[in-house]
Amino acid sequence: MIRVLVSGAAGRMGREVVRAVLAEDDLELVAAVDPVHAGEALGEGSDLTVGDDLASAITETTPDVMVDFTHPGAVAGNIRIALAAGVDCVIGTTGIPADTLDALASDAPDGTCLFVAPNFAIGAVLMMRFAAEAARFLPHVEVIELHHDRKADAPSGTALRTASLIADARASVPPAPGRETEVAEGARGALVDGVTVHSVRLPGLVAHQEVLFGGQGQTLSLRHDSIDRTSFMPGVVLAVRSVGGRSGLIVGLENLMGQ
Ligand code: NAP
Repeated sequence: MIRVLVSGAAGRMGREVVRAVLAEDDLELVAAVDPVHAGEALGEGSDLTVGDDLASAITETTPDVMVDFTHPGAVAGNIRIALAAGVDCVIGTTGIPADTLDALASDAPDGTCLFVAPNFAIGAVLMMRFAAEAARFLPHVEVIELHHDRKADAPSGTALRTASLIADARASVPPAPGRETEVAEGARGALVDGVTVHSVRLPGLVAHQEVLFGGQGQTLSLRHDSIDRTSFMPGVVLAVRSVGGRSGLIVGLENLMGQ
């Protein structure tokens, strides 16, 4: 059995992770932490109560893995506490700067694993892979990411990762046309690793992204839609099962798929 603690357990993603862990025979949900909801019954058929303090929850329940879907302002502190206690981390929270991840991993005890995925949906991982492949032949590309209106960070972690993969893959970097004629500030989006990224925030959306390539007389669109949050759960469960026995910082679900 893999003992799992869920951090951010009362949030939109955390609740889904609780359900996913409870549904798997080889995973045991040992603790749920979410300070504002502390003291509430977790529900979902579990007799756990939501805890308010990560460090004491770890001491009391000795989890093997912490899964964190919280907030960009909270996640680094949570990772530091978990790794220091020898608990492997599966992190879905986005908006963590790369140098912060490097520092957290280098401070971690030997044998602990810090796994971070900007997107746990298998289809989104494939979209990023296909985007990198297409960028080798069609270097003119823009990314449009669309999320629900309560998302804390912009651009999304998926868009940042996609831009980074495109930047690594394409042989030439064409100029982004139209920036010099931007009449309203922001009209042409943000420039991430040389790739233009547009962030849309609307109620009703979950998590969506389109990667739009342009070439002579043609366009190519790669689109992924997470229609509901269960789309992320097979990836989360895969990561929980995979971190034991690995160590150091691993970024991206593609590093675990097919292994
Ligand atoms: P959410 O509904 O706001 O849930 C976050 C939960 O964490 C809230 O209940 C929040 O409490 C709680 N929280 C805040 N600080 C905490 C702390 N120090 N310890 C424990 N819990 C804490 O947000 P969400 O939609 O679930 O998204 C959470 C994160 O996952 C975001 O960064 C989002 O971008 C990311 N995400 C990643 C993926 C992926 O595939 N990697 C997919 C979807 C979302 P309060 O509400 O009281 O602050």
